Amino acid sequence: MKVFVEKFGGASVNSADAVRNVERILRQENKKRVVVISAMGKTTNKLEEIANHWFVHHSLLTDKLEALQDYHNEIIYSLFGEDALAYVEKIAGIFNKLKQRILAVPTQDYNFLYDSIVSFGEKLSTNIVSLYLNYKGFKNTLLSAEKIIKTDNNYRDANVDWQESRKACESLLTPLLSQCDTVITQGFLGGSKEMLTTTLGREGSDYSAAIISNCLEAESMTIWKDVPGLLNADPKRLEHTTKLESIPFAEAIELAYYGASIIHPKSIKPLENKSITLHIKSFLHPEESGSKVCADKKLLPVVPNFIFKDRQILLSISAKDMSFVAERNIASIFEILAKHKIKVNLMQNSAISFSVCFDENVNILPKLLEDLQENYKVRYNSDLQLITIRHYTKESIRQTLANKQVIIEQHSRKTAQFLVYNTK
Ligand code: ASP
Ligand code: MG
Repeated sequence: MKVFVEKFGGASVNSADAVRNVERILRQENKKRVVVISAMGKTTNKLEEIANHWFVHHSLLTDKLEALQDYHNEIIYSLFGEDALAYVEKIAGIFNKLKQRILAVPTQDYNFLYDSIVSFGEKLSTNIVSLYLNYKGFKNTLLSAEKIIKTDNNYRDANVDWQESRKACESLLTPLLSQCDTVITQGFLGGSKEMLTTTLGREGSDYSAAIISNCLEAESMTIWKDVPGLLNADPKRLEHTTKLESIPFAEAIELAYYGASIIHPKSIKPLENKSITLHIKSFLHPEESGSKVCADKKLLPVVPNFIFKDRQILLSISAKDMSFVAERNIASIFEILAKHKIKVNLMQNSAISFSVCFDENVNILPKLLEDLQENYKVRYNSDLQLITIRHYTKESIRQTLANKQVIIEQHSRKTAQFLVYNTK
């Protein structure tokens, strides 16, 4: 059975018109497909606020919860017109469950609490879209992602149990697909052995779609976005961008590694492992070709790719007695970095100092400094910007660095990186 996986992100379902557009896109082609949907618009952020408030103050942000329900109801009223009331009531049922869940969840374990609450965004969106499509005669079945994306219980950043997920996809998803062409499921969510809800980390819906694609050995996966495809820079950062037509898997992994925000870092490997082509297409112009990430070895076109990362910290670490910072010290420094779950974006060493650059996190930094300062002298700079240019040219570097003061620069054959003072 040939199956296609399509993922619709929050922006593609953020209003009634957007949901109608999803219907239009799905109707363009008849095929067996799994449709993975994120929470509507900014719902995840709102639920995060509610969860955080509950965790800290043990009180319910009733206004915020009501505003969220109003937002979903408005979409329902527009989608179902005079039949809306029955659907508003159905969704009210989900909101009631959410309220009960919040009131019942123990507040000792933040990550557990977070997943119990924040997962409701996707439950709401998938229910509304599924109900709407069936209402319009576009037959589909809703399947809870907790049943097919099996994870451990590392809440908020759950690890996928591939074997169990594959089994679940085979025993639940495949039979459903043979009965009904379209199965809808939630992005971002998984289920533990105990059937408790887990999440895969923020922006995890792409990863969900990639997991399902891998488990089903899908024909292809498509991500519908509000941009024409994979661009060579974030259009908010650069005025003139170029769309990449075709990107080899390895290149996509590199771009995600350096921080290209359009690709979820974990979502390429499951596709690469089964040679499943990823299409990135615009939900505003679905007829356009978009970009594809695939097994072809050629990047098309070869243009410089720019990745900007703000809020970087640079630590310069040296031994207290001015001795060399060599293998043994570096190993102990990395042990400390790993303990604090620091992901290093750039590093450089000289005879007496070792420098590392990583994303700022105010909750972690003081403790990290304390641990390092036990044995080392540490200096640090904050609010820096890390610019990465893949396939750099002299001209691309010249333009990017105009008016910038560079602190560290590194060049390899294909990649140039510059840590600069942020002069935005
Ligand atoms: N709704 C989740 C988030 O906003 C997952 C996703 O959109 O991919 O992070
Ligand atoms: Mg989202």
